[in-house]
Amino acid sequence: MAQAMKVRKGDVVQILSGKDRGKQGRIIEADPKKRRVLVENLNVVKRHRRPRPMKDASRMGQTQIQPGGIFDLSAPVDVSNVMVVCPTCNRATRVGYEFRESKDGRMKVRVCKRADCREVLDR
Ligand SMILES: [Zn+2]
Repeated sequence: MAQAMKVRKGDVVQILSGKDRGKQGRIIEADPKKRRVLVENLNVVKRHRRPRPMKDASRMGQTQIQPGGIFDLSAPVDVSNVMVVCPTCNRATRVGYEFRESKDGRMKVRVCKRADCREVLDR
């Protein structure tokens, strides 16, 4: 079984590689199977599209043209290229797991691995 991803939808992460290295953004989609995440406004790639006639458009001798142009799209990044940003100490950190007591009993929670922080990542 694949190991659970340490990041999930809604996390703020820092990008570790590529042109957006060092930037932070929120995960808007996570794909545990492919181990990829989509980060809001980061890893944007430009898609160029040519104008082209649309299919079955030539009714009444009129051809409709689908406009071309450049589109910005966020591309998914591999989870190994991102790090969770701790909401408590505001630093990119590795994720650890700990059991904490709560009103629902013992719960496994994600914690910041910074030695001087160790705060729970999930609110
Ligand atoms: Zn922390």
